[in-house]
This record gives sequence, C-alpha cells and structure tokens, in this order.
Amino acid sequence: MSGSVTIAGLGPGAEALVTPEVSAALAEATDVVGYIPYVARVAARPGLTLHPSDNRVELDRSRHALEMASEGRRVVVVSSGDPGVFAMASAVFEAVEAGPDAWRDLDIRVLPGITAMLAAAARAGAPLGHDFCAINLSDNLKPWALIEKRLRLAVEADFAMAFYNPRSKSRPEGFVRTLDILKDACGDARPVIFARAVSTPDEALRVVPLPDCRPEMADMRTVVIVGSATTRVIARDGAPFVYTPRSVAP
Ligand code: SAH
Repeated sequence: MSGSVTIAGLGPGAEALVTPEVSAALAEATDVVGYIPYVARVAARPGLTLHPSDNRVELDRSRHALEMASEGRRVVVVSSGDPGVFAMASAVFEAVEAGPDAWRDLDIRVLPGITAMLAAAARAGAPLGHDFCAINLSDNLKPWALIEKRLRLAVEADFAMAFYNPRSKSRPEGFVRTLDILKDACGDARPVIFARAVSTPDEALRVVPLPDCRPEMADMRTVVIVGSATTRVIARDGAPFVYTPRSVAP
C-alpha cells in the first residue's frame, strides 16, 4: 500500500458544509490526526485509528502524520474550516521542509474547506464583497507589534477585515488593544460582525457599530468581521443585512 497525507478542512461545524471530497478522503483513511475537538468530529469505524492531540503541538502532529505515511498508511490531517487558513497545512509543509528528503516524495494533498470568515460573511450578507484581509490576532507565533502594524495599515488601505483567534482566556489584552486601535484609526461607526460558532447549534451573530464594541463580545469561537468605510447596513425586522458594495467611487 502506498501511503499518503491528506490535509483536509472540515468546515465551520455543520456536516452539510463538509465537502464530498473531504468525506471521501475520510472514508478511505487508515489514520486521522488533529486537534482533539476536530478529530472528535470524525466518526469512528473499524480500520480507522483516531489520533487526537492537544493544541500547540502542530509540528509533532505533522511529523507523526508524515512518519505514518512513510510506513504506507493513508493519513488524513484534519483542521476546522480550511486547512490552509491559520491551520495545519502550513505546519505539515514546515515539517516536510525541515524533515528527511524522502518526505518530499510522499503523496501529500490539501483539500479545501469553508473557512470561518466565509461562513460568517454568508450569514451576515456580503461584508467581504469588496477587498478584504484576514488577520490572526493570536500572538503565539508572531510579535504583537506586527499585529498592530498590520491593523493600522489595513485601516489605512480601507480593507474590510476578518479576525481569527480574536480573544483567548490566556491573552485577553490583545482584543482590548485591537478595539482601541480600530476606534482610534477608523473614527466612524462602521459595522462590526461578531459571528460565534457559525453553523453549529451554538451559533450567534451580532452586528454592532464600532464605537459600541466591547471586548467581551468575542471569544475563541468567534470570528470578527470589521467593515470597510464603504460597508453598508440594510436595516429590517430581525437581523440586518451587512454588505460591502463592489465598487468605490473614483
Ligand atoms: N482553519 C480555520 C481557522 C482556525 S483558527 C478556518 O479556516 O476557519 C481558529 C479560529 O477560527 C477561531 O478562534 C475563530 O476565530 C475561527 N472559527 C473557527 N470556526 C468557527 C465558527 N464555526 N464560527 C466562528 N468562528 C470560527
């Protein structure tokens, strides 16, 4: 049997948002590795070994997957959302680049998934309908000063922004600082979408004008989308539509 590593995105949560391609890869896998809550989304069956591991061990997990593939196993590495967005695909390639040459010849594939910002944007309307950027607010793997610089430049360039990992218990200060920077740099009441646990039973969506945003509105299950200066809110009974028009006046 020839081994493989398939790095697959499970989407934001709902079964209906897992692509058929990912379901097929899981059906053929001998081993599934990933962070505990993501591996928990894969149904157990005879012939499949689940290898859940803790957060922050992405490189160890990647090497384990590559070693098993070298032994002929069909390994699926799971991420939530898309595996290329702040997730396992880069970790696997970091391990490949630093590892034995033989790993470069392995059958390695990345299968896309629906990333949190797109699932959240779809719920709200079309806030990412014009130019946008995505920023990971966690400073585990990069200096906070770089996050601040990117935030300020993104405001200056007038991108809509999607924030992943906005606020964890271990670093509550970062999001306080983020909101202060945005309120200072934007100087308007543009809409901010707090989209929590999108497509799961715990889903909750709030649209809040920037000046009214408070840090407690986000947690680690929330993706935050900040409109650009042109983002519009269509008020109606119930949740408003939020969208960013396709054009900007010259
Ligand atoms: N690879 C994932 C992102 C991993 S980083 C993806 O493409 O979506 C983890 C962060 O993603 C969380 O802190 C949160 O900001 C966001 N996230 C993941 N699933 C989410 C969901 N169902 N609803 C809202 N945000 C989510």
